[in-house]
Amino acid sequence: MKLKKLAFVLGLAAFSAAAHAAFPEKAVTLLVPFAAGGPSDKIARDVAEALREPLGQSIIVENTVGAGGTIGTAKVARANPDGYTLLVHHIGMATAPALYKQLSYQVPDSFEFLGLINEAPSTLISRPTLAANNFDELRQWISENKDGINLANAGVGSASHLCGLMLQEALQVDMTTIAYKGTAPAMIDLMGGQVDLMCEQATNAVTQIEAGKVKSFGVTSAQRLKLPSMAAVSTLDESGLKGFNVTVWHGLYAPRNTPPEVLEKLNAALRTALKNPELIKRQEALGLSIIQDDRLAAAGHKKYVEDEMARWSKVIKDSGQQPN
Ligand code: ASP
Repeated sequence: MKLKKLAFVLGLAAFSAAAHAAFPEKAVTLLVPFAAGGPSDKIARDVAEALREPLGQSIIVENTVGAGGTIGTAKVARANPDGYTLLVHHIGMATAPALYKQLSYQVPDSFEFLGLINEAPSTLISRPTLAANNFDELRQWISENKDGINLANAGVGSASHLCGLMLQEALQVDMTTIAYKGTAPAMIDLMGGQVDLMCEQATNAVTQIEAGKVKSFGVTSAQRLKLPSMAAVSTLDESGLKGFNVTVWHGLYAPRNTPPEVLEKLNAALRTALKNPELIKRQEALGLSIIQDDRLAAAGHKKYVEDEMARWSKVIKDSGQQPN
């Protein structure tokens, strides 16, 4: 009887390994927790395109937006762990736990880590009509308009929110924050003059800065952008906000308990995708850098997210921001 049971269990295991050997047999859904047209969405679409060949299946990008990316993230945590529902998420993966009292998922426990994708520098930009042309003039304008400044972001825990928290803290000023469901809709209002300021990743900001549709006041990351058109733009650290550093990163995730064979295939496909010359060219043209180090492996990716959780929970605490 015992032998029969063992044979049955072994049979099941062999059956399930064989089933996973065929993965993927249908299109894979890649969920983005922010609005279409924003940095996360653009990165996800680029990666989806580059994953198509190594996976041999098409990738459907789906946007589930709201609450700083936590609604879409929760949806992936609850999804069937079969490899057909994946998540592209940014720094918000590491910051939401310090900003929300009740999340329906846990970081890192609710996820499998498939690899870090890129690092994206960020910039401080304004509506085109704002009466300042460099960071010193902006500081002056902020001190003269203290009570009526609107600062856009993509929701609590988004990169733009974190950058805004740091900016207000560094300048010792309280701005009125306006939350959008991604920085794509916020950018439309910024260009239209409905809001004053926003931190935005190079992914979206560079083309609008080059076109004169928004003004740029500095790079919020530790280093200047490597793009010729942005080489003269100083970092906020260089402009006097010592230690200011908001660099956004994106990673790929699957729900917890996705079978190891499936995770291996997805990780291998991501590694191939990140070597795709077209993807590299498009990302570098926007000032982004593709990850090619141990953060592309599950353990390195997970450790990086944990380190970022520790770093940001301190920044969030110091800023006085209360959890939602
Ligand atoms: N850039 C956004 C943020 O500030 C998110 C997005 O729309 O991609 O988090």
